[in-house]
Amino acid sequence: MRADFDLQPFNTFGLHALARYYFPVYSEHDLLAILMDQRSAHLPFRVIGGGSNLLLTSDLEAIVLHMFIHGIEVMEETETEVLIRVGAGVEWHALVMETLSRNWAGLENLSLIPGKVGAAPIQNIGAYGVEFKEVCEKVEAMHLATGRLDEFTAPQCKFGYRDSLFKQEAKNRYAITRVWMRLRKTAEPNLTYAALRQAVEAEGLTHPTIHDVSRLVTAIRSSKLPDPRQIGNAGSFFKNPVVAAELVRAIQEAYPHMPVFAQEDGNVKVPAGWLIEQSGWKGYRRGDAGIHDKQALVVVNHGSATGQELRALAFEVQADVQKRFGIELEPEVNIW
Ligand code: FAD
Ligand code: NAP
Repeated sequence: MRADFDLQPFNTFGLHALARYYFPVYSEHDLLAILMDQRSAHLPFRVIGGGSNLLLTSDLEAIVLHMFIHGIEVMEETETEVLIRVGAGVEWHALVMETLSRNWAGLENLSLIPGKVGAAPIQNIGAYGVEFKEVCEKVEAMHLATGRLDEFTAPQCKFGYRDSLFKQEAKNRYAITRVWMRLRKTAEPNLTYAALRQAVEAEGLTHPTIHDVSRLVTAIRSSKLPDPRQIGNAGSFFKNPVVAAELVRAIQEAYPHMPVFAQEDGNVKVPAGWLIEQSGWKGYRRGDAGIHDKQALVVVNHGSATGQELRALAFEVQADVQKRFGIELEPEVNIW
């Protein structure tokens, strides 16, 4: 246990923030012992993984639990499928690489997402037309107030677009300890996203493998997303808004080229990055706080911006988009 511990190395914005107490967690046994031991401290618990979806705006008067539970176990295997159980502290991209090395399909479109496995259910991570919920079998999690180990099936996790039970009614109540995923031994690649499809076509691949998909997703991501090791960021700052079709039609009168994606319920998803770019913020910089010059959805820390400065800039962008388009952007990043 460490007191007044600086979380700067453990968040991808690279922000300084002191945790009142900090515990690395290597097993369920560790976790239970800390929970029982620290009950008398009367401080809230906060769980972190890779710190790649966090904006720390102040010191944390909390007990921070940093997940390092490891292990990838095969629980069931048939000719067509495999069921794995993975520790919350395993790096997500390392898991993707491990599954690809065994020719298991399902995670290839989710290559190069930073962070740890235990956070994947929190916002139901997604990219290039695939979401975590498609492979999730169940989630093991320890109830922070009682130390009870619970299991949540995928439907119980209430996965939605960048959303789950753990961002809603169970927010900050559980530490996810292990995640079960069902992967396939053969699968048609998902090429629904234009950028991926075009990359496949550009290489003349008629039957792309899961390895091709992972390689191309990695290349596309590396070409347009800032590497947190070079420029502090937490990926997309806002979710893509899903709005009423009438509002979109009204905006399209002034912006006929606005990209839109129709949803099953009749509403329309609008890329938040496009709204921010049209509002003139792409590449904007104030001090060390900025908006990335290749992807306007990413708020960046060029060096020594504070969490409060980054939050103030993001909220200014949010207010500007609301004024111009009548669309309210909702932060995807967890602001603490
Ligand atoms: P953290 O940032 O440490 O935590 C995020 C939230 O989850 C916090 O609320 C925390 O309390 C909670 N949490 C973390 N671990 C646990 C646990 N074990 N139990 C309970 N609660 C927990 N996200 C996408 O969905 N798709 C993308 O394509 C994508 N691309 C990204 C690209 C970049 C360059 C960056 C920096 C981020 C990107 N992200 C993306 C966001 C981020 O990587 C994911 O949300 C990731 O799952 C966060 O994992 P983490 O371990 O870093 O979580
Ligand atoms: P992009 O390909 O330029 O597309 C812009 C947006 O349009 C995306 O955000 C995506 O929404 C949406 N979109 C594109 N094709 C779509 C389709 N066929 N159907 C439905 N929606 C479609 O996006 P990008 O910024 O380069 O990101 C590529 C992928 O990586 C996206 O899936 C994105 O979510 C993911 N990513 C996420 C983060 C993060 O931090 N959350 C960071 C980087 C990249 P969706 O976002 O809903 O997919």
